[in-house]
Amino acid sequence: MKTWKLLSLSLALGAGVLWAFMACGDLWADQPAKKRLALVPFQLERSGAALVRCRACGNVHQAGAIEGDPAENLTRIAWDLLLEQEKDYEFINPGQVEGVYQSLLAKKIDTDILPLIKALGQALKADGVVWGEVFRFEERRGSAFAIDRPASVSLDLHLMRVSDGTLVWKGQFSETQKSLSENLFQLGETTRRGLRWMTAEELARSGLKNMTRDFPGPSLLQ
Ligand SMILES: [Zn+2]
Repeated sequence: MKTWKLLSLSLALGAGVLWAFMACGDLWADQPAKKRLALVPFQLERSGAALVRCRACGNVHQAGAIEGDPAENLTRIAWDLLLEQEKDYEFINPGQVEGVYQSLLAKKIDTDILPLIKALGQALKADGVVWGEVFRFEERRGSAFAIDRPASVSLDLHLMRVSDGTLVWKGQFSETQKSLSENLFQLGETTRRGLRWMTAEELARSGLKNMTRDFPGPSLLQ
């Protein structure tokens, strides 16, 4: 009698383990593919007008000079910050994004930014496309401790859901560092950097860092 009881118990346990194993297998099989995210190089909006309207979202910005070619560095900074967010995305290789983007530009399929970005997302089989627009990128004149003119930056970051071409998220940043302390306190940068005049890139990095804190998870791209 005892042996039978033990045998039944072992069978029940065995069946239980087998069931759990199969259930796990099903769970893995049903796991949806990760949402694919592409980051396009920043667009530089050199309009020359005092005010400029963002071609993506329609926000109006106080324009200014865009000094040098900050697109590549800003794109790299945004990429690092998005990766730091550890949202459950599959990030498409930036080199691949750049290649497809350049080929679309060469074909001049559309001069409007939204259809262009949607076509890019489709070509890359992306679920979402992130890109920024720069309206002002003025470098500080002087050193970290004494300046004639502070750095001033204005930029937007956007996320498009490729399936319907809708902008599902955007971040906006427009700052001119006004004093050694004022903006730094505001941007939460003082403890890390100390009081100093920031370069345009440092200012932009702070803005992008604040923006990407609110960057949404993959569920918005369903
Ligand atoms: Zn915008």
